[in-house]
Formats: sequence, structure tokens, C-alpha cells
Amino acid sequence: MPVVFTDILAARQRIAPHIHRTRLGVSVSLGDRFGVGVRLKLEHQQVTGSFKLRGATNAVLSLDRARREAGVATASTGNHGRAVAHAARISGTRAVVCMSELVPENKVQAVKALGAEVRIVGRSQDDAQAEVDRLVAEEGLTAIPPFDDELVIAGQGTLGLEMLEDAPGLSMLVVPLSGGGLISGVALAAKTVNPSIHVVGVSMERGAAMAQSLKAGHPVDVREEPTLADSLGGGVGLQNRHTFAMVQRLVDECILLTEAEIAQGVRYAYEQEGEILEGGGAVGIAALVCGKLRPRGETGLVLSGRNIAADLHRRIVNGERIEA
Ligand SMILES: *Cc1c(COP(=O)(O)O)cnc(C)c1O
Repeated sequence: MPVVFTDILAARQRIAPHIHRTRLGVSVSLGDRFGVGVRLKLEHQQVTGSFKLRGATNAVLSLDRARREAGVATASTGNHGRAVAHAARISGTRAVVCMSELVPENKVQAVKALGAEVRIVGRSQDDAQAEVDRLVAEEGLTAIPPFDDELVIAGQGTLGLEMLEDAPGLSMLVVPLSGGGLISGVALAAKTVNPSIHVVGVSMERGAAMAQSLKAGHPVDVREEPTLADSLGGGVGLQNRHTFAMVQRLVDECILLTEAEIAQGVRYAYEQEGEILEGGGAVGIAALVCGKLRPRGETGLVLSGRNIAADLHRRIVNGERIEA
């Protein structure tokens, strides 16, 4: 295993001063509905609005002085981009976020507001990534990967550690799944403490790269489609180094949701729990309320992010049929 339990303990020490130890809430409504305890890891309340800050902070703080001085780079415009920008700022490091011309202005502003330099290049995500590669090769910056990286995985694992500390009796964990950095870290932490815990990954049907890769037995490319769970989009990387193997080994079950089911999760979180979640953050709740997953024993759901446009959230809560 490329990441071991002690890496997660080290990550926790390193990042503790900079992240929230988010609360593990209780869902009375889901508990009553299923007759088991249901706990909600309120990680959408993390600084920058998602768990991505844990991994990014662990990666940035692990750089030696020369690398920190040269700076870090990413092509992510979403939660990972925000996390890298914030992690760099708190450690006094320069962060460059490369984006294509097609990225909407609100996302550009969100990253700038966190203190990162924004570099607009080309017309696709690939063009933006090519600029990151150039900054690494020619200017000595360090790329901070969104999921397939030992330090990032260990950082995300700290969230699993907290869940098992707060509720040692958990027997099932339900975790949003895209590239698998989150679930790899969380499952490693949880199964070290309790090897029999059942770990469920939840993705959207539209472009579920990890689920299809698991089925094929190796990483495969999938066509990316628009989805309400936009933070779960993107591939696992054909050259995937760590997360594919870790997910293969540590994840017990994978569930895929339709767009309507994801919307139902966002709506339920708001109406029953009073929580504003983005689509990707609500897939755990969605899996339960749509009936695709029956919790067995005390169950912990990771609510992974809250970065959704206010207008889109309002439309979902109003019950509009949304085509993402
Ligand atoms: C990135 C992200 C995920 C998925 O994390 P992976 O490590 O790529 O599996 C889930 N939820 C939110 C809100 C995210 O930003």
C-alpha cells in the first residue's frame, strides 16, 4: 500500500492548526427512517467549503523550503483549486491556478479571492494542464494533484480518523467517489481501526470513471458529461498510480445515481437537515433516500462539499427539473 496508517497520523499533526475538525452530526430523520444510527460528517463546513483542503494542505506543508519558495500549481478550477490556493496562502507559498478561457468568471474570481495567481491559457482543461506541466518543467513549480498522490490521500484520510474517533461503533461508511483520493484515505483509516467496516462509494451514473474502471479491472477513460455532481467529474487517469489499486482493495461496494436522485439528495439535505450541499456532497444522503442503499448498523455519511451556485441550489430545492 503506497499510503499507510502512520502517514495519516502524520498528516493530522501537520494540518491540525489549519483545518477545522468538522462535527459528526446526527441525522434524526434518516435514523428514524432506517432504524439505525445515521451520522453526518459535516465536511462541507470545512474551510474553503470542501474536504480537499486536508489533502492540499498536507501536500503543500510537506514541501521543502526551496520547493515552497518556487510555488505550487494546479489546473483545477473547482474545490481542489480553492484548496490549493488557500493552503499555499497559509504557508506563504505562491500558487498558480491555470484555467482555460472557457472557465466562468465567478470561478476565476473565487480562486483569485483566495490569493492565487490565475493564468488563463487555451480553450480546454488539457491546455490548462499543459501550462501546469510547463511551469513544473521550466519554472520549478510543484504540481499538487487532486487525488492520485500519497500526501493528498493521507490528508483526506484524516477525515476518516475523526469519524471513527467520534463514533467508534460505525459499521458502514458512505463516501462520495470520483478519483478516489477521499475514499482511499478514509477507508484506510477506518479499516485500520475496524477491519470489518463496510465502505460504500457513491458516484453519478453520468461518467462514473472509477466504477467503470473497477468493472474493467484497469483504469479506463469515460466520456465526461454534465452532471449536478460536477465535483465528481473527470477521469481517474490512465496512468493512475495509487487510488485505483486502493479503491479496488478497500472499497466494498459502488453505487451510481441518476441526476434526479442527486437532486433529491440536495433537496433532502436542505429540507430535513438544514444543510446546503453541492451535488457531489449530497450523494451519500441521496443513495439512502432514493432507496439504492440500505444502511446496516450505525452508518456514517460524508457530506463532502457545499460549493454550489446559489441560483442552481434554489432551483433544485424548488423542485425544478434540472438538466445540468
Ligand atoms: C473532489 C470531490 C469529491 C471526490 O473526491 P475524490 O478524491 O476525487 O474521489 C467529492 N466531493 C466533493 C465535494 C469534491 O470536491
